[in-house]
Amino acid sequence: MFKGVLITQEIDNDRKKSVAAVTDLDETQLPEGDVLVEVHYSTLNYKDGLAITGKGPVVRSFPMVPGIDLVGKVISSDSPRFNTGEMVVLNGFGVGEVHWGGLAEHARLKSEWLIPIPQGVEAKHAMAIGTAGYTAMLSVLALEKQGVTPDAGDILVTGANGGVGSYAIRILNRLGYRVVASTGRMEEADYLKNLGADDVIDRHTLSEPGKPLQKERWAGVIDCVGSHTLANACASTQYGGVVTSCGLAQGMDFPASVAPFILRGVKLIGIDSVMRPLADRMEAWQRLSELLQPEDYDAISEEITLDQVVETAYKLLDGKVRGRVLVNMKAQ
Ligand code: NAP
Repeated sequence: MFKGVLITQEIDNDRKKSVAAVTDLDETQLPEGDVLVEVHYSTLNYKDGLAITGKGPVVRSFPMVPGIDLVGKVISSDSPRFNTGEMVVLNGFGVGEVHWGGLAEHARLKSEWLIPIPQGVEAKHAMAIGTAGYTAMLSVLALEKQGVTPDAGDILVTGANGGVGSYAIRILNRLGYRVVASTGRMEEADYLKNLGADDVIDRHTLSEPGKPLQKERWAGVIDCVGSHTLANACASTQYGGVVTSCGLAQGMDFPASVAPFILRGVKLIGIDSVMRPLADRMEAWQRLSELLQPEDYDAISEEITLDQVVETAYKLLDGKVRGRVLVNMKAQ
């Protein structure tokens, strides 16, 4: 037997309701896969928050163990790619949505979803990074690949206090970019400046409907929130600038005009981490392992136990969590 968070569906007044709780599980309940992993750490991402609270249609079949990220030791493997005892990392691939995920002490997974833990990265730190840090790195790589260099001008990061935003700020700062952080929590300005933000702006300046073309302010944007914020970010990006879009914390809509794209040549790049090919994942993790230092993980993450996962998921969706949440499977 082992413990895990299990999300089940109940009928309440003729309406379907999902309920999440730490439950005793049995290996025979695990889904099919060729690698069995003892999970050492998992995390709580925005998507996990939606799955656990039932506030978003993330879970595709019930019962489900949530957790889109995990790091752990291979217990048994039918794959030539991995040996017993090896440490592996998983991010995405629908795990925690359609396949039981990382918020349990054991997980059975497909070997093609796994990467070996990057050299020099501790298990705990791999999860302090997790999907959020890896998505932040994919976003920065997209700016670099589109030719946005540190001397091009300011980079706007929205959803700055979140996991993706926090890592984006730290990575951009390490690479020498000038960063402007947009947040709804101005009281966290010191935290954002310590991460490397040069300026901190109130997210309300970006979150209301705005003009289709505005003053050119950004050489690049890493947007985690979507909706009017993304539209305003595009409208205020300088000629030839690049906007990446990975998130929808404000909304899934995109109430924008084509003006920035056809008059200023602004590029909008979508960032998907979930189905990303292995080569891109390895590149992102390699860069993360080179850029981040041990102190970054402590600055950005807090550690909780499996028993604290459900209550913390509600706090995350209420915008009361700063940075990353690391779940230590072995802690009581
Ligand atoms: P998170 O830790 O919960 O952070 C989200 C941040 O967004 C919050 O901390 C808050 O920052 C801001 N925010 C929340 N509600 C908002 C609102 N109504 N209007 C404007 N800003 C709001 O989440 P995360 O893990 O960083 O993920 C960020 C987003 O990226 C989520 O939408 C997530 O689903 C998405 N994501 C996508 C991928 C992908 O593959 N495309 C991968 C990872 C994450 P402030 O308090 O600083 O304002």
